[in-house]
Amino acid sequence: MEEKNWSWEMILKITSILLLLGICLAQKTRYDGFSVLRVVPRTAKEVHALNRILENINHLQANIWRFSGVIGKPVDIQISPKHLSNLNETLLRDGFRSELLIPDVQKLIYEREQQNQDIKETAALFEYGKYHTLDEVNNWIDNITKFYSNITSVFEITKSYEGRSIRGIKISTAEGNTKPGFFIEGGIHAREWISPATVIYMTGQMLDRYSADLRIKQLVDSFDWFILPVFNVDGYEYTWTKNRNWRKTRSKHGPCVGVDPNRNWDYQWCKEGASKDPCSDQYCGPKAFSEVEVKGVADFIMANAKTMKGFIDFHSYSQLWMSPWGYTKELPPDFQDQDKGSELAVDALEKVYGTKYQHGSIANTIYVASGSSADWTYGAAKVKYSYGVELRDTGKYGFLLPPDQIIPSGKETLEALIALANFVLNN
Ligand SMILES: [Zn+2]
Repeated sequence: MEEKNWSWEMILKITSILLLLGICLAQKTRYDGFSVLRVVPRTAKEVHALNRILENINHLQANIWRFSGVIGKPVDIQISPKHLSNLNETLLRDGFRSELLIPDVQKLIYEREQQNQDIKETAALFEYGKYHTLDEVNNWIDNITKFYSNITSVFEITKSYEGRSIRGIKISTAEGNTKPGFFIEGGIHAREWISPATVIYMTGQMLDRYSADLRIKQLVDSFDWFILPVFNVDGYEYTWTKNRNWRKTRSKHGPCVGVDPNRNWDYQWCKEGASKDPCSDQYCGPKAFSEVEVKGVADFIMANAKTMKGFIDFHSYSQLWMSPWGYTKELPPDFQDQDKGSELAVDALEKVYGTKYQHGSIANTIYVASGSSADWTYGAAKVKYSYGVELRDTGKYGFLLPPDQIIPSGKETLEALIALANFVLNN
């Protein structure tokens, strides 16, 4: 009798623990009262001091939204209300003053969810001025390639760590791979939602306007386009279902989940500007190409490397158009040509809405970062015109950019792409 009572109690206890665990697992990570602070280093000494602070604030559970290794370029730090005063004290001790960029991250996440839900699907195929889930993006890939089956096809890079399909669209108006290739990727970092949205918009424009707009026709006709809207599919899905602020892949190599897929490429892998700490947001992974997604895209580009002439990896935020190198502040032999392409791109971009982008080499424009995509495509695959682009904005909303900025971002970036593609073609 006694034994039976005990086991019932045990069953009840276990059931309630499981229930609680289930609720916790199902819930999204919340950021109530979390703020984003901005600090700008004014001297080389301050850059150094600030980076030392950032390396040692793990215990404050701070999350870096924007990192800087350059004088005058801001660092944006997300911090919980519990640790806010502690962080400010730490900063003040080294003479830094912080500016409050975003007072309540959760409030902004909620606002964005509402805005996005309120946008009705009106377009015949797809509503481009809205953020879309991975399933919706994949449906769009299916639909638009069926609609334009004469010039498009779907390519699958590989399956992700969690088994999702990583899919892109090839646009080609010639038989076979006879034209120079141009590879565009979005969403390598999960939380940078404007990146897939901008890539999707540009692709839609290239197809919808192909037969009616001569400039678009020339753009499309000049290359075989390989467009991958969502690179980091597992991470992207995770930002929709669990944690809006997720950046890395979702693989498990150690005590923490995920690798920074833009520190995992096998060129100058895991040198300066990457972390060996599995819990860091810049974790380079246990080895180069440890991430199936990165290895998959690299293999795909390498298989087409002979004809590949252009590569752009879209990120957000900061409004920067950057070329190699990331791993060193030294400039590569092709820098002048590469940066000329950037200059033409940002000039064309600015003409649309006045949005200002800066350009230069990655290491000299934001920070030294090794094992990044553009370094590999240039250094290993020899794609001369390789770029890393940070899209809108400069920090007012950061990753939580309102959906009404998707189409403007798409329009101006498409102008940049046209200018750059023309330049690449003629060089
Ligand atoms: Zn990024």
